[in-house]
Amino acid sequence: MTFDVITIFPGFFGSILEHGLLKRAMASGHAAIRLHDLRDYTEDRHRTVDDRPFGGGPGMVFKPEPIFRAVETLRSEKHEKSLRVILLSPQGRLLTQAGAEELTRAERLILICGRYEGVDQRVVENLVTDEISIGDYVLSGGELPAAVVMEATVRLIPGVLGNEESREQDSFAVPAGAPPEVRQGLLDCPQYTRPAQFRDWNVPEVLLSGNHEQIRQWRRRQALEETWRRRPDLLAHVPLSEEDRRWLEALRA
Ligand code: SAM
Repeated sequence: MTFDVITIFPGFFGSILEHGLLKRAMASGHAAIRLHDLRDYTEDRHRTVDDRPFGGGPGMVFKPEPIFRAVETLRSEKHEKSLRVILLSPQGRLLTQAGAEELTRAERLILICGRYEGVDQRVVENLVTDEISIGDYVLSGGELPAAVVMEATVRLIPGVLGNEESREQDSFAVPAGAPPEVRQGLLDCPQYTRPAQFRDWNVPEVLLSGNHEQIRQWRRRQALEETWRRRPDLLAHVPLSEEDRRWLEALRA
């Protein structure tokens, strides 16, 4: 997958591209991340990307011309059918695991990072295919959200994570073999590691038992319980076995 990030702060991405998952994904050829300075697509001496809002009010707004020029230049390099032009915006649809999974179907994503009061509405209406928000709060720029979108998406590309099983056990992962309408899974179960006793706190006995069936059942029940307590909304969309239902009824009781 190729990511083209349009930003006025390309240097912002230095550390995330030099560490961890994104670095590994680029080294193994699963992802290419290209940074584009929006100011390189201006045509005036001052490399102006913003201007005052029509109608007055505080702050500045990204002008449409540099953004159109940047996206049209990048689009003209190659004509992928699955190209998506994404504006990071608090007004966009909330990013979820299912949404990230869906993004992996695109060959290439162009990510536009806003700043100041945001971008001229003509960009939103005539250039972008998707607006994505990473949460109901406002950040100063789209760079962190773009990094979040890339990380959430790249780790779902098959082959990127060392252990594919770990991704299937993650919170929100759709269970293997689930029908296509199932888009979100349960929260993950609690995890423990050595030592078996730390201060006065012991690891649950069952995890030390070596009994794989009992461990599977314990993990499933814990995942159901965590989800029921913290995110009951997710339970409505997850396929449940008879055993799961009985456990949930017991919890509710
Ligand atoms: N005036 C805008 C509003 O209230 O919707 C907020 C603009 S914000 C200060 C500047 C830029 O940060 C936005 O254009 C967007 O690119 C990015 N941004 C801020 N919060 C975001 C969020 N929750 N999700 C995605 N992008 C966000």
